[in-house]
Amino acid sequence: MKKLLVILLASILVIGLLAGCGGAQKASEQKAPDKKFINIATGGTAGVYYPLGGAIAEILNKNVPGINATAQSTGASVANINMLKEGKVELAMIQNDTAYYAFKGTEMFKDKQVANMRGVATLYNETIQIIVMEDSSIKTIEDLKGKKVAVGSIGSGTEANARQILEIYGIAYNDLKPQYLSFGEAASGLKDGNVDAAFITAGAPTAAIQDIAFQKKVRLISIEADKADALIKKYPFYAKQLVKANTYPGQVADTATVAVKAMLVVPENLDADTVYKMTKAIYANTDRLKAAHKLGEGITKESALEGMPIPLHPGADKFFKEK
Ligand code: GLU
Repeated sequence: MKKLLVILLASILVIGLLAGCGGAQKASEQKAPDKKFINIATGGTAGVYYPLGGAIAEILNKNVPGINATAQSTGASVANINMLKEGKVELAMIQNDTAYYAFKGTEMFKDKQVANMRGVATLYNETIQIIVMEDSSIKTIEDLKGKKVAVGSIGSGTEANARQILEIYGIAYNDLKPQYLSFGEAASGLKDGNVDAAFITAGAPTAAIQDIAFQKKVRLISIEADKADALIKKYPFYAKQLVKANTYPGQVADTATVAVKAMLVVPENLDADTVYKMTKAIYANTDRLKAAHKLGEGITKESALEGMPIPLHPGADKFFKEK
């Protein structure tokens, strides 16, 4: 009798196990082919990262089978790197200077190094634009002292650029009233007089500035050549850049300033095949980038490694080595 009970229990166990296995097998058989989610970190909606990131998502969805890409609005460069580090995004648009600081663990990434990030490509110049309304009494960077200055959102590369440029002029945040605002917020602040000046690091023309300039004339403040030289000496990712007259309606003079570069990064552990296919799709569809923003014109395979501050991801490296 006891023996019978043992046999009975054992067979129940075996049946149970078999059923379990069968179930698992069925589930895996029924599963749709794996969709790879690619979350793309961009910037504020009034910048250039956001429309270009949206175009990149569209390119990936149309051209890389199995990818489900979406672009999201964020606080920009520094925030994007932190999201990538935490595994929350698989592709991010960031500034090349910020990428370098993160990879080396310096500046705003001191003691917070991000080593699990790899480069895909550099894209276009991001100009540091210091904007005031045309009738403002602010004529030089020194005049920013005591003023309400939008320095970019917390977590932006813009904010670091503002700090470094002011530093070269011997001005600290204590000497002014820094406002941590997105480009869109800075633009409306300028328009209604709540902000006296705004730093914007983005491809020119930038939507936020166009938006004000269409309604009321704006002026750009220049960075003098000797100050630009001192800045470049201390922070080598800057290069001199001119904002040509009429980049914005009513902007009458060329303005000398500096620029960094926008770039794409991925996590180190994203598989090489996916990164290769993504890079290839982006460069085969630069027309779509051009349609999203004028700066898309300059996004070419030939210029994609200029100013690359960190090691390339093997998937991107494979693509750029192909003839
Ligand atoms: N470069 C900017 C930043 O990281 C964002 C530019 C953009 O949104 O186009 O602060």
